[in-house]
Amino acid sequence: MTIRVYNTLTRKKSVLKPIKYSEIKVFVCGITPHDYSHIGHAKTYVQFDFIVKYLRFKKYKVFYLQNVTDIDDRIIERARSEKKAWLETSRYYEAEFLKNMKDLHVDSVDKYARATEFITQIVGQVKTLLRKGYAYKTDDGYYFDLSKFPDYGKLSGRTVLEAEDSVSRIDESINKKNKSDFCLWKFSKKDEPSWDSDIGSGRPGWHIEDTAITEHFFGPQYDVHGGARDLIFPHHEAEIAQMESASGKKPFVRYWLHTGFLNVKNTKMSKSLGNFITISEILRKYDYKVLRYFYLSKHYRSPIDFSDELLEQSKNSLERLNGFAINSRGKKSKLKKSFLLKTKKSFYNALDDDFDTPKAFSILFEFIRKANKIGPNNDCYLFLKEINQFLDILSFEQEKIPENIIIFAEKRLEARNKKDFIQADKIRKQINSLGYLIEDLNNDYKLKKKT
Ligand SMILES: [Zn+2]
Repeated sequence: MTIRVYNTLTRKKSVLKPIKYSEIKVFVCGITPHDYSHIGHAKTYVQFDFIVKYLRFKKYKVFYLQNVTDIDDRIIERARSEKKAWLETSRYYEAEFLKNMKDLHVDSVDKYARATEFITQIVGQVKTLLRKGYAYKTDDGYYFDLSKFPDYGKLSGRTVLEAEDSVSRIDESINKKNKSDFCLWKFSKKDEPSWDSDIGSGRPGWHIEDTAITEHFFGPQYDVHGGARDLIFPHHEAEIAQMESASGKKPFVRYWLHTGFLNVKNTKMSKSLGNFITISEILRKYDYKVLRYFYLSKHYRSPIDFSDELLEQSKNSLERLNGFAINSRGKKSKLKKSFLLKTKKSFYNALDDDFDTPKAFSILFEFIRKANKIGPNNDCYLFLKEINQFLDILSFEQEKIPENIIIFAEKRLEARNKKDFIQADKIRKQINSLGYLIEDLNNDYKLKKKT
């Protein structure tokens, strides 16, 4: 049971060794519910859902924790523009997000922890940082003093902002000692939400909620922290500064795993750029399994360039997998057990090597090509059933094509065989007008529903 992961902190792959034998504590940065979640967010959450399910399949006991930044500048702003209370806006988009996750079968998270439900822990951590000399007070709140933490930048390899970094405006203050110092606790302005505490009435900075929440559930050191790439700097860098200063224990997180962006025409999909498609929108067009396969067909660390063509390709690949599963079910054949075992071994080796799904899928499709020639059998079906436990991409059903469409297609094949291309073309148009597409194969055809 050896799994290797690429660790952003060490910049290399190493064997995943949990702190406690066979128990893995995973934290992934959650959403800030100020708008509908888009398919770029879904990429990270589907990929971590698969990773956690795969670890559980490998018999690890995983506790998967995710936060919800349920108070933030962007929520306050959005609530104002919607003429609603911040809490109403925050809870509305959170509920929409949770519904999206349910629809995508992202159901591996053990606990969603809201920042506002951990105010005591957050204030406690700020006080520890103050006591140890890592934090200071200004007119507008408490800040982390980066001149006291020379390790700042060890995760990202830099200390200055770049264009694609996710930032929080709460950190902008003219009263800071150093340019990059970030906010731990912000004194609330009039008509802003605030929580009373003995360090003054205010609200938490963005970074501190994560370390307060993880310290509460996991203690000062844990196994895996995940998130999208744009969170590495300054967000995850700030988390390291806070927790390692507060506890003195290093490294705060043993393995940092980051997902690549979802791009549209080579630009990252984001709210601020306005080039986003919401999860609900895409699920109206495609089955959740198509979307899951689309994400998993690429390596989690790689970017994906979104396009309808790629989703169509994913749909076709899934049809092939489902077709193969159906043809295998209950069948006997000459296919050798050793051939399947060899395939399984290389399939799982690929996944054990930093969850290399593209490699695993190519091994699977290569196997299917060969197995189709020999004749697939029930063992192949059982193998697909097994991997679907953590992939969740197969329905084991094939799309039903209505009888009248098949009759048209048969007539068209007859016309083509007689080289009556005018008639064949006419029938093709009839099939199209009934909502189906026909693809010509050698003395055969393939039908599919238009999307
Ligand atoms: Zn976070």
